[in-house]
Amino acid sequence: MAKRNTITKQLILDSLKNSKTAVSQEILQKELGEAVDRATIYRVLNSFCEDGIVHKILGDDGKFYFAFCINCSEKKHQHNHFHFKCLTCGKIECLPNEVDVKLPEGYQSVTFNGFISGYCKDCSKSF
Ligand SMILES: [Zn+2]
Ligand SMILES: [Zn+2]
Ligand SMILES: [Zn+2]
Repeated sequence: MAKRNTITKQLILDSLKNSKTAVSQEILQKELGEAVDRATIYRVLNSFCEDGIVHKILGDDGKFYFAFCINCSEKKHQHNHFHFKCLTCGKIECLPNEVDVKLPEGYQSVTFNGFISGYCKDCSKSF
């Protein structure tokens, strides 16, 4: 059982790593097929978030998407970037630019949830 869990974790990790875009639980389920059940995918994704390897994005469709973390550790996540959803191809990606938001005095930020929709580089080329 433990071995199988490790394989499942590795599969999910690989597909997150190889994906240039953020993926939802449903997308992962499709990729992995019936061999891995919903609850397992959900649990693995959330444990990756806790470990600082993956971060969650709330999409404008109310679903969560997961993206591989670049500069994060277990202790400190660095997600002060926007997420961009393309209205043509539907992909959601992390924008590389770090965003520094000036908050009013006395305010402290804990999470940053920036979401932009529009047309990605590839899709806006065809206009
Ligand atoms: Zn992170
Ligand atoms: Zn696009
Ligand atoms: Zn991101």
